[in-house]
Parts: sequence; C-alpha cells; structure tokens
Amino acid sequence: MVKQTIQIFARVKPTVRKQQQGIYSIDEDEKLTPSLEIIVPHDLADGFVNNKRESYKFKFQRIFDQGANQETIFENIAKPVAESVLAGYNGTIFAYGQTGSGKTFTITGGAERYSDRGIIPRTLSYIFEQLQKDSSTIYTTRISYLEIYNECGYDLLDPRHEASSLEDLPKVTVFEDPDQNIHLKNLSLHQAATEEEALNLLFLGDTNRMIAETPMNQASTRSHCIFSIHLSSKEPGSATVRHAKLHLVDLAGSERVAKTGVGGQLLTEAKYINLSLHYLEQVIIALSEKHRSHIPYRNSMMTSVLRDSLGGNCMTTMIATLSLEKRNIDESISTCRFAQRVALIKNEAVLNEEIDPRLMIIRLQKEIQELKDELAIVTGEQRTEALTDAELLELEKLITSFLEDQDPESRLEVGTDMHKIHHCFHYLKKLLNDKKIHGKSTVSSEIKDQDCQEPLKEEEYKKLRDLLQQRNNEINILVNMLKKEKKKAQDALHSSGMDRSECGHSQSSPFPPGNPEGLRTLPSSAPTQVQDVNTFGYRSSLLHRKTVMREEMSLGRQEAFEIFKRDHADSVTIEDNKQILKQRFSEAKALGESINETRSKIGRLKEEITQRHMQQVALGISENVAMPSMPDLLEEKLRSQLEEEKIRYKMMFTRLKALKVEIEHLQLLMDKAKVKLQKEFEAWWAEEATSLQVNSPAVNSLNHMKPFPQTPESQRERFQLLCNQSDVNARKILPSPCPIPHSREPSSTSASLEDSIPEKPASSIPLTGDSQTDSDILAFIKARQSILQKKCFQ
Ligand code: ADP
Ligand code: MG
Repeated sequence: MVKQTIQIFARVKPTVRKQQQGIYSIDEDEKLTPSLEIIVPHDLADGFVNNKRESYKFKFQRIFDQGANQETIFENIAKPVAESVLAGYNGTIFAYGQTGSGKTFTITGGAERYSDRGIIPRTLSYIFEQLQKDSSTIYTTRISYLEIYNECGYDLLDPRHEASSLEDLPKVTVFEDPDQNIHLKNLSLHQAATEEEALNLLFLGDTNRMIAETPMNQASTRSHCIFSIHLSSKEPGSATVRHAKLHLVDLAGSERVAKTGVGGQLLTEAKYINLSLHYLEQVIIALSEKHRSHIPYRNSMMTSVLRDSLGGNCMTTMIATLSLEKRNIDESISTCRFAQRVALIKNEAVLNEEIDPRLMIIRLQKEIQELKDELAIVTGEQRTEALTDAELLELEKLITSFLEDQDPESRLEVGTDMHKIHHCFHYLKKLLNDKKIHGKSTVSSEIKDQDCQEPLKEEEYKKLRDLLQQRNNEINILVNMLKKEKKKAQDALHSSGMDRSECGHSQSSPFPPGNPEGLRTLPSSAPTQVQDVNTFGYRSSLLHRKTVMREEMSLGRQEAFEIFKRDHADSVTIEDNKQILKQRFSEAKALGESINETRSKIGRLKEEITQRHMQQVALGISENVAMPSMPDLLEEKLRSQLEEEKIRYKMMFTRLKALKVEIEHLQLLMDKAKVKLQKEFEAWWAEEATSLQVNSPAVNSLNHMKPFPQTPESQRERFQLLCNQSDVNARKILPSPCPIPHSREPSSTSASLEDSIPEKPASSIPLTGDSQTDSDILAFIKARQSILQKKCFQ
C-alpha cells in the first residue's frame, strides 16, 4: 500500500501582454516546496474593504512558469503517475482552473502543433512504449472517454459517430453495487493494442466533443471530460490479474458568476456556474477535515465517478492552471486556495490484484488430475488395455508442448499409467534419434558456428525472422501508400478542371479521404473482446460524414464555404500542418527506401556468412581435417558488418516509427480542424440565411427593378450580391477568423449588429421597406462589417 497526499502542481499560462509582470512571483529558493506569491495590484486591493492583504502565498509541489513546455509538464507531472499505473496502482491527474487558463491545453494539447500535444497523447505514447519493452507480462489496454454535462454522462466514444448534439450520444449512468463499487452503465470500453489505435480513440472523442457542443450548452467550459486508460496485466501462467486505471480529467471552468473580493469567503452554492464543481469542493473540504465520517460523494456524478481518486485507492495529482492577468487575480487566488485544500487529502493506493476465475478453474482441474493419479498409485490400480490412438495423439501433443516450453520448471504431466510413461520414453527417444541424423547432415556447420560465436537459439532466430517479416510488411505498406499518394497528386494535376471543392479536398489530406489505408493499416491488435469496434473505421467515418455534408451542399454554398475556408484563421494552421506533413512524408519515404536497402544488405551479409560456413565445412570434409579452432577473419568481418547494419536498421526503424506517430497525430489534428471549420461554417451560414431573410425588403429596395424571389437559391444570390459589393469587403463580412467567445450570448451577433446601425435601427429595416434608400443599405453593410471586424480583433 502506498499512502500519499494528493500532489498539487501549478502551471501559469503565458500572458499576451507584458504589463502583467509584477502580479506574481515564484519562490524557487524553497527547494522542497516552492511557493507562488500573487500580488494584488493597489487599484484592485482598494476595492476590497474587508481585506487589506496585498499578497497571497501558496505552496505547490512544483510551479511551472509561463515558459514551461508540454514535454516538461509531462516529464514532471504525468510520467510518475503513468509509471505507478504501469506498476498496478490507480492514478488520476485532473486540471482545475478558470476557463481559458489552459486545462484542455495541458490535458489534451493544443490544436495546432505536434509539439503542443498534451498529457493524454504523451501518456499513451509512454505507456505503449513501456508495454512493448516488457515482454514478460501480458497487458491489455482499454480506453473510455466520458463527458459529464449537467449531471448527465455521455459516452464520447460512441461508435455510431452520428452525434450532432450532446443528447445524441449514449447516456451514461452511475450505479453502485452491493459492495459499494461504482459502475458506469453504457460507457463503452475500447481495446487499443497500439498507440495509434488509442490516439484514434482520443481524436474520435474530441471530435464528438466538439461537434456536440452548441453555443447554448458551452460544453467545453461547463462539462467535465474524463479520459480513462484501463490497464490489465498478467504474468504468463499466473491466475492473478492486475488492474489499474488512469483517469485524465479536464474539469469544467472553475469561475464563479459573481466575482467576489480576493479575501472573500467561499461562495454559496447558488453562485456557482457549475454545481458539480461545488460538490467537488464539498467533498474536498470533507476529506481535508479530520474526523469527518461522511463524505458526500453521491451528490454529483463527477464525484461518484472520481470517488477512488479523491481520498481513496488512487495516486492523484492536481494541476492548478492559472491565467495570471490582472482581471483574473481573484479567480487565480481561488484556484490556489482550492489546491491548498486538495493537498491535505490523503490517499491510500493498493495494488489491485484479483484471481482470474477461468485460470483458477484450469489450475484446479490440473490439481484434481494430479490427486487422482496419486490415488491410483496408492491403491495400485493400473490399466491393462493398450493406449488408444486418441490417447497416443494427446500424449505426443503434450510432449511437443513440453519440449517447446521455455520454462525450465515446466513438467511433463502424464499421470501414473505405465503405458503412457513408456510411450513417452519411446517417443522422446525417436525424436532424439531423428534430430541426430538430421543435425549431422545439415546443421553441423551451424553448431560449429555457434561454438565459436555467441550461440543463437532456434527460438531467437525465429523471433528475429518474424520481426523482420513484420517490419518488411510495415515498410511495404508505407511505400505503397507513398506511391498511391504520388499517383494521386499526379491525377490531381491532370484533372485541373475538376470541381474546386473536390480538388481542395483531395489535396488537403495526404491520405485519400475516408480511406483508412496506409499508415493506419500497420500491424494492429486482434479484435477486442470488450467492444467489437474497428478503431480504424472511426476516422474514415468522420471523414465520410464530412464529405457527405459537403456533397449535400449546393454549388453556391460550396463556393461560400471555399471563401469561408480561405479566410478562416484555422486554414493557416491546416496549411502549415499540410506542409509539415509533406515534409514528414518525404522523410518517411527516404527512410523507407534506406530501410529497404539496409534490409537487403543484411540479407546479403547473412547469405555470405552461410556460404562461408559451407565452404569451411566442405574444406574440412575434403581435407579430412577438423574445423580450425582459430576464428575465421573474413567471417568475423562479415559479422561485424552485419551488426553495424542491424544497428543502422534499428535506428532508422525507430525514427520511422516516431515519424509514423507524428504523421498520425498531425492528420488527426487536421481532420479535427476541418470538422470544426465545417461546423462553424454551417452555423455562420444559418445565421447569414436568417439575417438575409429578416432583412429581405431592405435588400429588395437596393434592387428596385428586380426584387429577389423568396427561395433559398435567391438568398444565396443575394448573399453573393452582398459579398460581391467588393471582394475585400466580402471577406470582411465573413466572420470566421475570430471564433465567437463562448461566454457571449448566442444571439450576440445579430443583436450587436442591429444595435449599431446608424440613425435607423436595423430591426426597422425589414418593417418599413418603402423608405429604404441605397445609402441605408450601404450603412447597413458597413455597420455589419465594422461589427464583424471588431469581433475579429477582440
Ligand atoms: P481551458 O481549457 O482552461 O478553458 P484552454 O486550454 O482551452 O483553456 O486554453 C485557452 C487558450 O490558451 C487556448 O487557445 C490554448 O491554446 C492557450 N493556452 C493555454 N495554455 C497555454 C500554454 N501553456 N501555452 C500556450 N498556449 C496556451
Ligand atoms: Mg477547456
């Protein structure tokens, strides 16, 4: 058992403005427990009559200032937790802080750069790397991703991928069994055998999370997301299974509706944006106070789900994310206060071991058979009839598996029947003789080779051969994929007259859209027992959905989408990532070719070594002399070359693997960005359509002679007309480069727009109609542009 208080860390988000300096300081001198001092500016402190303190000091395990990168955060915070999870303990890392302070950035990562990937992808990478290294244990990794919004749980890994709102996702409920264990009903668990599969699941969940969010629910700031890695491990032959869970939690924004003074007491329930965060605080308070017997876990779904993480069987870590700007002082102080309480909570983590009943049954059956055999010896009962064919076959199978078993302790269990024992001896003798004859004629050179070199067991050869074959396959797939890519690029060049949107699409992804081939088909796991879901399908399905959406668009809409896309801030990111991807692909291609060359070279060297052996043996036989005891210099040289090539091969292969992960990650980031773009376009389009409909008489008056008929197509044309007033203006009308902050009211766009129309309120435009002049319309357009521009620079 490991007793440990919850570890608390602080991370300060980089500030944009320099003037924020002097608001806080970090005291690193106190090496063991560094402290963060938050200094309240005089102008702010004056306002708080109740409290005259001007600075507040908080101790943390470590404080990461603005310059700390994602790698540092992972190494110092997440890696130790991942290590204890690998050792069989439960672990939890949760990020707590106000909206915009960097919780999602820390837990999941930024949406732009590969280097910005957060704790989840890095932890997955680390865990799978460790699992691969440890071949002595059998591991199973399963993933779940839960979102809790308004006390309701939603399964983000819904394999049906049809969610367009949170309510479309399967609802997850909590129930407690008689032993008071918490279970989550309807939360799917997906087996992931590789980092790639796990990463696909993370992006599937994140994309569902993004699609399901509406301005009304503001799910990203008001919901909690729990990404869980369930790890089971078992030693071969053992009936004991270890289970460990790692929860990576992105909590809802901790801000309160009404800001209180920095010295203010904890706010009352009603003032919390998020009731479940209030319950979390209550649980934390109860846990940090001694002699409290009742801990109110059941009050909220989140505290129920995280019951073990809070004061239970878990090694828990909290990251307080801080955005230390003047306007956030009180929220930052409140976050630090919360952390200080959390640090008082003691957890007791135990190894979660249980006996696998299936394995236990096998073991007991064996024991029964042994006892029966012993009994037969004691009673002296022996069979008289000869062994049946089936029995003989069974015995031979037993002998073969006994011989193949690497375990020196393994036993050949045939019972006490003397017929069987005799048959075993006969069979073994036969095998030994066969091997001798076979060995003499063909393997003698190898045996001698192994005498003077480090002996390589048959088993090792087999392993190496399999590994080589496996890597060969991987490279072939990669090379095929690159070839396809090249062909596609050429095809795209040929068909330059193609539909613009389709063209853009095909160029935008280095892999064919909806085609999960290529890197994604690298060796994967057996189908999962838990949920028969092919994770490779996720991405293709999301892409398919995107393509279908696009196909459903009218031509005009597609055109608008192209402009929207071009002017959207994210398109720069997508373009950048596309360029990086191209580079990585060329690197992967070159590397793949070098690997191929090295592989052939290894093959040639091996061939040469074998031939050299044959020559030596032949020489020995023809001259009737024993093999020279001196090592053969040529052979030694060949062997050292072989070793060098193997090292080169390994290095290149490791690099290719890292490239593969990076390419995968970048592609998923791009897919997500594209889905986001599409979603934002849909919202914007709907808004435009509504606003055009509302203002149609005004627009009609602009075109006195020829009023637009009221059809969707005419709306589009009208929109085009508005856009075409000037190309520059048209682009400014498109609002995309600045996503609307979530905290705004959903209708803020039209409201603020109408408010700002000069002289005549916009709302009156559609009502009067008759007195509208061209200048009114121009004023309307200009006002609209200025609003949208303002938003862009906010
Ligand atoms: P939260 O999840 O707490 O609401 P986010 O993680 O979404 O906040 O962060 C808000 C914005 O700040 C995002 O654009 C994010 O990329 C950026 N950001 C947060 N932390 C950092 C950091 N440490 N370095 C760079 N950018 C950051
Ligand atoms: Mg967030």
